[in-house]
Amino acid sequence: MNPFSYSRADTVHDAITALMSDPQAKLLAGGTNLVDLMKYDVVHPSAIVDISRLPLNQIEELPDGGLRIGALVSNSAVAYDPRVRRDYPLLTSAILAGASPQLRNVATTGGNLLQRTRCYYFYDPASPCNKREPGTGCPAIGGINRIHAVLGASDKCIAVHPSDMCVALAALAAVVEVEGPQGRRDIPFSEFHRLPGDHPEKDNTLSQREIVIAIRLEGGHLVNRGSYLKLRDRLSYAFALVSVAVAMQLIDDRIIELRVALGGVAHKPWRDILVEAEFAGAPADEATFGSIAERLLAGAQGRGGNDFKIPLARKAVVRALRQAATRRPADGPDRMPQ
Ligand code: SF4
Repeated sequence: MNPFSYSRADTVHDAITALMSDPQAKLLAGGTNLVDLMKYDVVHPSAIVDISRLPLNQIEELPDGGLRIGALVSNSAVAYDPRVRRDYPLLTSAILAGASPQLRNVATTGGNLLQRTRCYYFYDPASPCNKREPGTGCPAIGGINRIHAVLGASDKCIAVHPSDMCVALAALAAVVEVEGPQGRRDIPFSEFHRLPGDHPEKDNTLSQREIVIAIRLEGGHLVNRGSYLKLRDRLSYAFALVSVAVAMQLIDDRIIELRVALGGVAHKPWRDILVEAEFAGAPADEATFGSIAERLLAGAQGRGGNDFKIPLARKAVVRALRQAATRRPADGPDRMPQ
């Protein structure tokens, strides 16, 4: 491990000032990913700025009936908040499908958004990797790529985003509040994470000098059905091979509004708003669910080891839509606690 300085920020302004004065500085909140990355010699910050005591640990009710979740609220606190469980049970299901209780007690909302890919090559400093060291290549293409992307990948990187929570936030059309030297701005969730393109070293659209402040969830309860389905190699403490979050408004068995986000298949939680719009007004039946799955996966491309994800994702989309439409809870550990 390389030497680094440690300081504690008392205000958001302090944290931003520290980022401005040292481009190699990293913010520490729960540390559940950053500390691993440092121990694996993947990242080498010159300074650690501890933001864990900033006043960003509240969940507030908004005038429109929505919620504003501070960036430092733990994943567990979000999952078990009675307002989240009542109005956004999809988010509770997704969070409880991820990590372990111990990790969820420490991991923060902001940190969940900023966690790095779990690509094996990324975590191995002896391997080339365009995300870790731009320009060195991507050994996952043509290598071991069972867990990698089938949508939106590039010839520079085929990594996937590992979060469960973010897949639900994408389906809930959340908004990310960030603050930097120029003040605060909102980033629609679908624009927060990015596809790899020619710059896979950039996971998101946050600038190096900005800090995540909060996540906002819309009120008004336009969505009356939701479901989160996670498929993985074992039933707990494993990242998704494929996951699906569905949020929709259903009236008289017709789809009024539809949002479907996929996890484990792309560099970001994957949504296709054109496909979603196509099915407004369609009957909520098996034929429609199958058509939605076909359309969402139409552009999918396997790389050999991950070819199985394409039919798996199609089936997962159908099952998640069926669960949402029939109000059947997810199976196994993804089931909401009573
Ligand atoms: Fe690196 Fe991305 Fe290739 Fe993995 S998929 S080795 S993270 S460039």
